[in-house]
Amino acid sequence: MDDKRLEKDIEDFLITSMLDELSPPAVSEAEGSTITDIDGREYLDCFSGISVTNLGHSNEKVNERAIEQIKKYVHVCTYKYQVPVAVKLAKKLAGITPEGLQKTFFGNSGAEAIETAVKLSRKSTGKHELIALMCSFHGRTLGTLSLTGQAARRRYDMGPYLSSVSFSPAPYCYRCPFDKEYPECDMSCARFLEHVIDYSSSGEVAAFIAEPILGEGGIIVPPDEYFTIVKDILEDREIKFIADEVQTGFARTGEFFGIENYDVEPQLMTMAKGIANGYPISACTTTKAVGDSFEPGDHLSTFGGNPVSAAASLGTIEEILENDIAERSAEKGDILQKRLREMKEDQEIIGDVRGKGLMIGIELVKNDDKEPAVEEATKVKKKMKEKDVLIGQGGVSGSVLRIQPPLIITEEQIDSLLNGLQDCFENV
Ligand code: PLP
Repeated sequence: MDDKRLEKDIEDFLITSMLDELSPPAVSEAEGSTITDIDGREYLDCFSGISVTNLGHSNEKVNERAIEQIKKYVHVCTYKYQVPVAVKLAKKLAGITPEGLQKTFFGNSGAEAIETAVKLSRKSTGKHELIALMCSFHGRTLGTLSLTGQAARRRYDMGPYLSSVSFSPAPYCYRCPFDKEYPECDMSCARFLEHVIDYSSSGEVAAFIAEPILGEGGIIVPPDEYFTIVKDILEDREIKFIADEVQTGFARTGEFFGIENYDVEPQLMTMAKGIANGYPISACTTTKAVGDSFEPGDHLSTFGGNPVSAAASLGTIEEILENDIAERSAEKGDILQKRLREMKEDQEIIGDVRGKGLMIGIELVKNDDKEPAVEEATKVKKKMKEKDVLIGQGGVSGSVLRIQPPLIITEEQIDSLLNGLQDCFENV
């Protein structure tokens, strides 16, 4: 099938609001950090299917595990059957998630894991209100959009959304909502949470949800002490903390889970994306007490805990642990960030470089007033594609380049990425 015919068929038969004028590659094969299109052109993938294929495309062990399971059975549903491989995965997650987390509910997507966390926190506390962060992103279902702190960009036309959600300021140092400088700011953004609880809620807050690093919002990295201050406030008010690890989990940030960078333990954790290196499965893992609050009939997902995806996830976790993938992500991320910071010295368009591990954002600005360089970011992304390198774009106004390659990316491939970026910045 040729490109033009495929594009016409996409227009005629797919509902998609996301394919843009950059005409993304029509993928024929993908392996490691390389994507090959139907014409045989090879691209260096620095976005990993939105931070999913952390072990690279078509990882052998993960695929072997999935195939072994396919040969046994593909689906029965956890509704009426015991599925040993899903139980094994739940036990594994209890072993690798922070202290106290033990019981898991499986779904298929990140949004589904978050819907589960919301229901569990409401059911276990008897309270209904929720607090999320400005600039956050938690998914595209009506419930998760309600928690997404980017109203203008994400939440319009299809409401009404949940009304019991309040938003606390994002720990966005480059664009501090209090116009302060870190560390003299005394962490106003974290401390403001108390005002949100006192004045924006009626005191019936079940949970506070946050991404350890805000991904879609522009790879916003909270300062080291942010979550410790937040957690103290939450404990004082008996509010559950949901860590949304959908994008930060599975070694992406240089630790197995993003929240481990902050030494804080959540009561609920949501996972998807990198959990099975591309096979669809998500998890909401929580304490025994919270998990046990569900009563018969409270929640179910037909495909949740699918045996093939569960087997792939077990293979993924094994690969990450056996090959020190988190450490490798931290090391390569440090190299990449250091070189991007050096690049920033000569490139006025780069306003900020930030991230942890291989979750890196480059925020582009038009001038000293930090006017977001949205068109320029789009141009860089397009030019990078012409150079056979695929990167992401995000941020609350779309001016952040997102670098989230497979964690097995080589130094040589990192060089290609950096050379491409250098050239693009000089020409945009
Ligand atoms: N939470 C975070 C932090 C995400 O980045 C995303 C997706 O990008 C989601 C939730 C939603 O995940 P999904 O698209 O699998 O529903």
